[in-house]
Amino acid sequence: MNTDGAPGTVAVLAGAERARFLQRCRAIVGDAGVLTAGADCAPFLTDWRGRFTGLALAVLRPASTTEVAELVKLCVQFRVPIVPQGGRTGLVLGSVPDASGAAVVLSLARLNRIRRVDPVNRAMTVDAGCILHDVQQAAAASGCLFPLSLAAEGSCSIGGNLSTNAGGTAVLRYGNARELCLGLEVVTAQGDVWDGLRALRKDNTGYDLRDLFIGAEGTLGIITGAVLKLFPRPKGALTALVALDSPAAAATLLLLAQDACGAALTGFELMSHYCLDLVHQHFPALARPIERACPYYVLLEVSSSESDAHAGQLIEQTLAAALSDHACHDAVVASSLAQAKGLWDLREHIPLAQARQGKNIKHDISLPVSTIASFIAATDAALARQFPGCQVVCFGHLGDGNLHYNVAAPAGQSDERFLDQQDAINAIVYAGVEQYQGSISAEHGIGALKREALTHHKSAIELALMRSIKTALDPLNLMNPGKVL
Ligand code: FAD
Repeated sequence: MNTDGAPGTVAVLAGAERARFLQRCRAIVGDAGVLTAGADCAPFLTDWRGRFTGLALAVLRPASTTEVAELVKLCVQFRVPIVPQGGRTGLVLGSVPDASGAAVVLSLARLNRIRRVDPVNRAMTVDAGCILHDVQQAAAASGCLFPLSLAAEGSCSIGGNLSTNAGGTAVLRYGNARELCLGLEVVTAQGDVWDGLRALRKDNTGYDLRDLFIGAEGTLGIITGAVLKLFPRPKGALTALVALDSPAAAATLLLLAQDACGAALTGFELMSHYCLDLVHQHFPALARPIERACPYYVLLEVSSSESDAHAGQLIEQTLAAALSDHACHDAVVASSLAQAKGLWDLREHIPLAQARQGKNIKHDISLPVSTIASFIAATDAALARQFPGCQVVCFGHLGDGNLHYNVAAPAGQSDERFLDQQDAINAIVYAGVEQYQGSISAEHGIGALKREALTHHKSAIELALMRSIKTALDPLNLMNPGKVL
């Protein structure tokens, strides 16, 4: 057994030791729960965007919290690093192992039970491997709403959502994953089970351990279960697409919509004309609701606790105020569920259209809403000066100050040549983020992709505090090493 490695310098298990480790794993989860053959492991080793493929000693597939805990204890004994994995839709290389082959991937996919739905307490308890869409459906079946919603919801897991503190399209009204969680069950880096599955709205009993594990990207422990907050289902909802001149007009529209709708404003998404062009190019069957070309569009959703008609009144008030303020040019309001879905389809197909177009350099940034227009103008100009012809794919959750500000290659330039300029492009974008006191990761996390960038954008004291927490909870550095810090 390898017990002499210092934290972070773990050797790859080999020979008889490797065989003993795998045999003990099989004793815990059965033969079917331990994958080692190349073809069996392959789907667990490549990130969603296909940018990186790692290696693993094995892929472990436990089916219960107890099995997770026993596997972690075994990994501690053999000093084997662990990469927790949910739906593998993360965008920052957090859930795939590195190229050393030293780590195991610990997939939570078989922990997929809805444990309890409690509409009276407006809470539900689920296994961490439950797919987000299944959680939404289980809540709906009890007449409730679980509002976390993102384009990857058919594949991503609740454990992954909490570990990345996912955002999505309804943060404006309901908050991000952290705000939707009441309690957690966690297997610690030592293999102990912390049962924090409490459904309390108030609990001021010292340090908040729940909040420590949320957003930790699997670097502090493994989330195996969660108590989630439920909400009343809205009685009506209406969606509109609004055409505008500029991001500044979109920011004005946001204020008008907030004034008119208050908490009923549940979605406010910005999309540039170029984004919609890409979508129509790659998905020509999708509707073109506004013929007139405008530089920017906003997708606006209002939900009402009364009726569709009430949601309609609120949207009308918003659009009337925007027209008289010259904040918008044109708008369509969906008059059926199918039309509303058609509008949301445009927004949700942007990442897919980008992927079909070719490689691009992604930035998931947040800024104070009041500075977004200045940031876009200054950064678009700086990129055009240094990388003539590059294409900016700018869209995002404007209501939360969150932009997906992605940069694609000029026409005719190869992906490889373009990706070689990643550092210079990141430097321009992140300089703008710094100038306006924003964040280099709004909702996707840090993973391995932004680990280096983090060191330039967090203060020394913040980094030192984060390292102290990591060392205290995971002194052997076995939990997702090389991610975040
Ligand atoms: P994974 O990718 O498997 O893992 C993500 C991280 O969490 C890794 O570091 C992993 O080690 C860790 N982890 C996973 N499960 C556990 C666990 N049980 N315990 C401890 N650590 C764990 N994100 C948004 O926030 N908003 C969006 O709007 C959004 N849209 C997206 C659209 C598309 C098309 C795609 C592909 C992704 C999108 N994402 C978005 C990113 C991604 O879907 C989210 O980060 C999601 O929360 C990841 O969940 P997952 O189960 O796939 O996690």
